[in-house]
Amino acid sequence: MAICGREVYSYDFADRRSVVVKPYNCLVGCTTCSNLCPAGAIEFPSIEIVREAIKKYGVFKVVKEKLKEKVGDFVERAKKY
Ligand code: SF4
Repeated sequence: MAICGREVYSYDFADRRSVVVKPYNCLVGCTTCSNLCPAGAIEFPSIEIVREAIKKYGVFKVVKEKLKEKVGDFVERAKKY
């Protein structure tokens, strides 16, 4: 499925259908493929459930830490120039 930039899907030419090949590449909160699927075959949890999960599992805390690791290093290197 060409609409997913994260390569979650591939196309099985023998069966002539899309198949999920990299499910963990799917981005939490993204619903692009669901919105564009002409058959309405793709569903995701409601935004309320997604928000609860983000809160419950501390997703933003982890994202901030990871970002700080990457950007922090970038900022420190950029200061040298
Ligand atoms: S929700 Fe977004 S990231 Fe996940 S499979 Fe669909 S298009 Fe790809």
